[in-house]
Amino acid sequence: MTDTAYMEARDMETHVVEPSRPKRPPLVDPFQRAITYLRVSVTDRCDFRCVYCMSEHMTFLPKADLLTLEELDRLCSAFIAKGVRKLRLTGGEPLVRRGIMTLFRSLARHLDSGDLDELTLTTNGSQLPKYAAELAAIGVKRINISLDTLDPDKFRTITRWGELDKVIAGIDAAQAAGIRVKINAVALKGVNENELAELVRWTHGRDMDLTIIEVMPLGDVGEGRLDQYLPLSMVRARLAEQFTLQEIDYRTGGPARFVKVIETGGRLGFITPLTHNFCESCNRVRLTCTGTLYMCLGQEDAADLRTPLRASGSNDLLDAAIESAIARKPKGHDFIIDRRHQRPALARHMSVTGG
Ligand code: SAM
Repeated sequence: MTDTAYMEARDMETHVVEPSRPKRPPLVDPFQRAITYLRVSVTDRCDFRCVYCMSEHMTFLPKADLLTLEELDRLCSAFIAKGVRKLRLTGGEPLVRRGIMTLFRSLARHLDSGDLDELTLTTNGSQLPKYAAELAAIGVKRINISLDTLDPDKFRTITRWGELDKVIAGIDAAQAAGIRVKINAVALKGVNENELAELVRWTHGRDMDLTIIEVMPLGDVGEGRLDQYLPLSMVRARLAEQFTLQEIDYRTGGPARFVKVIETGGRLGFITPLTHNFCESCNRVRLTCTGTLYMCLGQEDAADLRTPLRASGSNDLLDAAIESAIARKPKGHDFIIDRRHQRPALARHMSVTGG
């Protein structure tokens, strides 16, 4: 890919390339997609047990298998040196990893240097009353908070262990700290499908964007996916009966396609891995807390980066492993949920690679 093509690819993600910035060797996959977005699952553990994400009795990784915070920093920094401009920490629940703020503080140096456009996280919000102010102070400007319902009892049923009040307090804390919040809601058949219009009004009333996500067949969660699966084409058609949905160009660098809701003035995103493949513009790869790199959320192929990371204090082996992994990034995924495909498409849970 030429420099110009790379810059155009980056501009499409709404990042503006400043001419004075030193050029970095871009990571480009076999389909000419520049890889500029790294998502890192910093822990597979979580303080919730959402029914579509985990089974109630999960076996987690032994702590000894996890990369240290220093190793996570080194890996993220190696990607940034190769042109990654957006870094999202996720999990599991990223804010339950011990010492996580040390990692955030350290990674923020790349924001200060201008090598990174955005440092952000996806969280269930439960720990935000404790951390929101510090996250804002180190330069986190936007975060995604997952919230599927505004009904406290339903919230408890979906998350098994969560409390709605705590998440609302987390949202309050983030907004009070000046962080922009986007709410992510997974559409669940028979659970929150009749509440999604209310969620649109509530999020937009609080000046937050809302993204609705189709449930994906990742990991065995102890119940049938067909029971959970609600195609977003149906959700959108129902919302269109109540709201005027106007197509807009707005992009966050992620897979969501946004509309403006004329009645509320807010933005509504749809992430539709099943009803519509969004892989053509995929710019991201995912790293697990054990240093495994998944080049696609929906495929098994992965690269071990922990071995080259630990093999040497220099980054030569690591850089070579990253480059060879990106050279294998597949064209896309092919999730299916129907009566013949009720087993998970992939054995690993979303908490391994992060949402
Ligand atoms: N704990 C954090 C949180 O709750 O946002 C970050 C990790 S969580 C795995 C990230 C996102 O993935 C959440 O919005 C969650 O709802 C979503 N998610 C988990 N399992 C999913 C699945 N099978 N299909 C669709 N979305 C899923």
